Amino acid sequence: MKVHTVLGAVLPSDLGRTLTHEHLSMEFNNFYRKPPNQIAHRFQSGFTLENVGYIRQYPYSSKFNIVMNDDHSKHAVYNDVGVFKELGGGTIVENTTIGLNRDINFYKSVSEKTGVHVVAGTGHYIADVQNDTTLDIKTEDLYNLMLTELTEGCIDNPIVKAGFVGEIANFERRAIRAAGEIQAQLGCGISFHPHRDPKAPFEIIRLYTEAGGRVNKAKDTVR
Ligand SMILES: [Zn+2]
Repeated sequence: MKVHTVLGAVLPSDLGRTLTHEHLSMEFNNFYRKPPNQIAHRFQSGFTLENVGYIRQYPYSSKFNIVMNDDHSKHAVYNDVGVFKELGGGTIVENTTIGLNRDINFYKSVSEKTGVHVVAGTGHYIADVQNDTTLDIKTEDLYNLMLTELTEGCIDNPIVKAGFVGEIANFERRAIRAAGEIQAQLGCGISFHPHRDPKAPFEIIRLYTEAGGRVNKAKDTVR
């Protein structure tokens, strides 16, 4: 069994200490929320000593705070992943999926510069970040897309294979069913994002297992 990283296949024993849910880069502008009028002026600049407390309280109300794919953010990511490596880190599982603007070339660059393995995911994030075409995709096509990305190469970067499914959000039940079907077929790892409803994790696991997905470690898998 091999793990597909953005720089190629490696043995599981070479992964080292692994963070299973990180985002090195993503488009998050859809999540902007207007701050209360009385404190709106606090959000007009980047971080300052005067406004950092307000941004902590209302993180989605700072346009500066929710940009996670500009040069400033990328510079911080190179630094942080470098520190992760220095402190004994081995691998980062990158959970950015369709709708959040996955950036595989950047993951490759981070991996090359830091020596940390990066595993890219496949699948779709929540409905709020999808366009009309994506929302109309059939279960079969969701499945086929993940199959292609896991076994042949990613649609936006064909020489890189996705290494797992995720993070899959409950934007449509068919996305979860497709994830269950692909897991049954390939035995790959899965990461779900249940969003805010406390009942969602239970419904996700029900739909996923009904579609054939396994919830154990699936040691007898093919990947
Ligand atoms: Zn995430």
